[in-house]
Amino acid sequence: MNADDNGTDSSVSRRNYLGLSGGALAALSFVGLGSAHEGKPGRGRGRGQGPGHGGLENGRLLIENGTIVTVDEEYGILENADLLVEDGRIEEIGHDVQAPNAETIDASNAIVFPGFVNAHHHTWQAGVRGVAGDWSFMEYLETMLGEISSHYTPNDVYLGNLFGALEQLNAGTTTVMDWFHVANSPGHTNRAIDGLEDAGIRAVFAHGTPGDDNETWWDESTEPHPDDIRRVHDERFADSDEDDLLTLAMGIRGPDYSSDEVVTHDIELARELDIPASMHIGSLGPGGVETLAELDLLGDDLNYVHGNRLTDEEFERIGDSGGSVSITPEVEMQMGMGMPPLRETLEGGAIPSIGVDIVSNVSGDMFTQTRTALQTQRALDNQPTVEAGEQVVELSLTAHDALEFATIEGARALGLEDEVGSLTPGKRADIAMIRTDDINTVPSHNPVETIVFQSGVENVDTVLVDGDIVKRDGDLYNQTGRRHQHQLVQSGRRVLEQSGLLEE
Ligand SMILES: [Zn+2]
Repeated sequence: MNADDNGTDSSVSRRNYLGLSGGALAALSFVGLGSAHEGKPGRGRGRGQGPGHGGLENGRLLIENGTIVTVDEEYGILENADLLVEDGRIEEIGHDVQAPNAETIDASNAIVFPGFVNAHHHTWQAGVRGVAGDWSFMEYLETMLGEISSHYTPNDVYLGNLFGALEQLNAGTTTVMDWFHVANSPGHTNRAIDGLEDAGIRAVFAHGTPGDDNETWWDESTEPHPDDIRRVHDERFADSDEDDLLTLAMGIRGPDYSSDEVVTHDIELARELDIPASMHIGSLGPGGVETLAELDLLGDDLNYVHGNRLTDEEFERIGDSGGSVSITPEVEMQMGMGMPPLRETLEGGAIPSIGVDIVSNVSGDMFTQTRTALQTQRALDNQPTVEAGEQVVELSLTAHDALEFATIEGARALGLEDEVGSLTPGKRADIAMIRTDDINTVPSHNPVETIVFQSGVENVDTVLVDGDIVKRDGDLYNQTGRRHQHQLVQSGRRVLEQSGLLEE
């Protein structure tokens, strides 16, 4: 259907996208490192493109003299400290770490912290950035999932996931839950995984349903999850070892969008494959978690996205069963899902995590989402006191709480807390560094507040994934991205034209 016919905002079609086609990604600075490091798309892991991991002398990298915010209770915050990376793992954190022959990075004007965990993201939408900023949830369901997603080709998916993931890395996010619901063919799914691999990000790939028929898949669906997930599991995730960057999950419709039989089938299938399942729930109304309880399906392998209208009892059920909640505050408030339920998540004892969701409307960086989640919850917590005519004398949450939600708790939500989410010796080296000598970060009297309140993408200097340098001195190292950047603009434009949102 055409956007104009269904009453959505036709102003999208009047925007002049032509002006973007030339240097649209010029500000995304890629560093080319020569053809010797180039891999074929979809074959590599995005590795070998920066001077990290295999390229390091002795596989060792010493980050020196930094302010290190570990988000680990035992290590806390260290000033003028060093962090040694060896063979992709954090080997040591402390003062005067000795590491002869290690490559070094000077962090004397930087804060070193765990890369963000973006716990909910539809990475494929990078190519249709900024079209849904004035849409309600109803318009989104009808136009994004009912129309735009049907025009995605496997190559559009590849470009969306490649650049969507690079956007995350550029913004200091090292792990993303890629919730993939444009699985229109096995080719679409393969290319989505290829895009993540070529970006070099750590990701949980949540295989979902096709995006080519909204009514079949999202309106009280009686269609079980596509059996193709068995192929994906066997072909792409069978030989998983502990340092693989990608793991598999299942993006199911859940009780809000599918029948009890389908919900039961889908969760049982995920459990048969021994992978977690994630579902959108509670944005349309309460009761979904109660349904899961009645079907005896609750478990610590389930991740609940949004949850805005769930009851307190439902949050307790999630908490009691060991489940996690992923809150995407900006999208939830914009689209009319309800207020972000961070307080309810915490009171229910569920694992709290934060995500971006979609760059088709909101900003893709976790700085913005983390800050929004924290300040929104503070406002909600303060309001009863304000309405009683009294004064708020103490805040309910701290900046460090919010940083935990965006790092270690996100890792816990995705089942990766033993590997990432904090700077702890023995964990994989997923690390972000922000400069503290930039105009908006100097002086940094409290590094956690600098991260949570003051910083943005522009301050992200260096990023490591699994010990690999994917960004350094503000430049992304990604040969594949450098070669494909202009294709993303063409891809997004064609999809929007075919969707009737742009004039051809
Ligand atoms: Zn979502």
